[in-house]
Amino acid sequence: MKRYFEDEIVNDILKAVDLAKNIVIITHSNPDGDAIGSVTAFEGYLSSRGKESITIVPNQYPDYLSFLDKGKKIHIDEENPDKTKTYMDRADLIVALDFNQLKRVDGLEMHVRESKAVKILIDHHPGPESEAFNFVVSTTEVSSTCELLYWLIKKMDHGSKSAMPYIVAKSLYVGMMTDTNNFSNSVHSSTFKMAYDLLEAGVDKETLQLKVFGGFSEERMRLMGHALLNKMTILKEYGAGFIILTKGDLEQFGYCEGDTEGFVNMPLNIKGVTISALFSEKEDHIRVSLRSSDDFSVNKFSKKYFNGAGHERAAGGKLYIPVGDVPQYFEKSLKAMFDKQKRAQDL
Ligand code: 5GP
Ligand code: MN
Repeated sequence: MKRYFEDEIVNDILKAVDLAKNIVIITHSNPDGDAIGSVTAFEGYLSSRGKESITIVPNQYPDYLSFLDKGKKIHIDEENPDKTKTYMDRADLIVALDFNQLKRVDGLEMHVRESKAVKILIDHHPGPESEAFNFVVSTTEVSSTCELLYWLIKKMDHGSKSAMPYIVAKSLYVGMMTDTNNFSNSVHSSTFKMAYDLLEAGVDKETLQLKVFGGFSEERMRLMGHALLNKMTILKEYGAGFIILTKGDLEQFGYCEGDTEGFVNMPLNIKGVTISALFSEKEDHIRVSLRSSDDFSVNKFSKKYFNGAGHERAAGGKLYIPVGDVPQYFEKSLKAMFDKQKRAQDL
């Protein structure tokens, strides 16, 4: 097994947890399976150590993840920012999960920066904002934050089985399963080892699979059909494909948070397409999702042209242009990126 962290930091984290009286757990905006899986797993883990905690997320998570938040205990900042302030003012330990830069937590950013609490970051994105935290556990060599958390929790309890209640195991499995898009990307040998351990510990993979990938609404399936039939463009010369969903498209199919999850991967199933983008029009911006299945770095692509970042093969960002200008903007950005790569090769 690879080592993702030193023994010393495990002890430091344990000490910080044991000393803390008011623990707040946070994750990034538009939380996905890994975000919600990691916060509910950590909360469950703390609870098994007799520690209470409050989880705060910037905005609502998709409905298909609500089974991980059974008592609806997760506080949504956007819905009650005053309550957030109370929780954050009181916090003496903040545990940040599944994001690298504080700007990814929207309204929570200011509270975290101003807080005097001990701050811990546990994440798997490149380029963590380490200076904003007291302790950082970060590697890109795992599938997900949930996987990293799995190895960390195991280490914290020296591998004892009692330390992993079912809610923790279940949440960790869900985060790993969603971030790998059901074991199809960013899977390492350690990921299978974790999956093996969790299945041995009794995780019911069929039920979780059904809840996460088999719980879509009819509208969502029809939106997917519309997206593929009418809204997808393939740019053969760049090996790229993109889908644009306007507010009108989303309204027509009764869009709910999380309904477009997974759409961005679809163009990659076409032979010759190795770069893919999904643009969804929101109130005041266009949300961008980017994927690649070769060495084209969508992390760099997003940083340069889409006001975002992410991993080498999965990234996101935002655009502030009219939705009608997106096709031209995307093609121009691709061209500039390829020209730049070519120039670099020619040098
Ligand atoms: P998704 O396309 O699934 O929303 O995001 C893919 C990856 O890119 C995720 O790992 C996410 O953390 C990262 N990402 C998504 N949106 C943004 C963004 O606006 N800014 C940054 N820095 N990263 C993002
Ligand atoms: Mn993640």
